[in-house]
Amino acid sequence: MKCDDCLNLLEVYLDGEAGERNREQVQEHLMKCANCTSAFEALTADRVQLATHLRERETAEGLRTVDGDRIPRTLSASSLMDHARCPKQFYWTRVRPLPRFSGPAARIGTEIHRWIERRASGQGRLLEADDTVDLTQEELAGDPGRMDRLRQAFLTSRYADRAPLFAERAFLLRVGGFAVSGRIDAIYGEPDGPWEIVDWKTGVGAADPLQLELYGLACVEIWHKAPEDLTLTYYYLARDEAVSQPMGSPDVVRERVQSSLSAIGTGVFEPTPGRWCGYCDFKGFCETGRAWLADNA
Ligand code: SF4
Ligand SMILES: [Zn+2]
Repeated sequence: MKCDDCLNLLEVYLDGEAGERNREQVQEHLMKCANCTSAFEALTADRVQLATHLRERETAEGLRTVDGDRIPRTLSASSLMDHARCPKQFYWTRVRPLPRFSGPAARIGTEIHRWIERRASGQGRLLEADDTVDLTQEELAGDPGRMDRLRQAFLTSRYADRAPLFAERAFLLRVGGFAVSGRIDAIYGEPDGPWEIVDWKTGVGAADPLQLELYGLACVEIWHKAPEDLTLTYYYLARDEAVSQPMGSPDVVRERVQSSLSAIGTGVFEPTPGRWCGYCDFKGFCETGRAWLADNA
């Protein structure tokens, strides 16, 4: 990609609307072009300013709860996970979205998923824009070899030479008044035999089991798998470790998902700070997050 093309695409890229091919090319170009990266950063700074302004207006209006029709009724599995981590972050991302401004390095998690998926399926299918990106700028800082090491970890894992039964399998589950959409990274096994459901994790922190359980629920309810035939695995590339659990009771999982969704339905989105504040786009104007970071510096 040439610099002119990259610069022309930056706005739509930041809006998350560049389309798969362009997005990939912009990301690749930004990784190696310092000029375009500074243009990207300037644009990002503008958006931070706009977000700050919107945030101030929101505070002035004293908004705490949200009327029902602002709450999205179709949610991605990853936004459900965002909500489980911090309802306020979910609010600023999905309910009253502030302009987006995550940097190119934070997108490396997406790159890795795409690379694995291409390798595993040989079909070159790509991921959606809002897939979980769980590798942070901070984690990457001063560590340019990281992406290669993650690739290497995959190549030496027990998954490297196996063809998944399904890769990037999409689903839509109805729970309560909501529809939850998601994509399962990989399913290994035989069509009528046991399945291992795998989600690739590029970050270091332990992931919430809810995401895998949701995938398990999709396998039970949509593809009619028996729960005892399902193993749920997070594969942590950064430490080359697979953490597996059995599926457990679909009723219990459904209840957990339901209670997350009802919490969203109440329209109250209080911040729940933690180490994740360190890489939250909104830490600049979230008092709770800032206080937590100051206390735990
Ligand atoms: S800074 Fe922390 S508490 Fe505030 S919205 Fe982000 S994740 Fe939530
Ligand atoms: Zn350039």
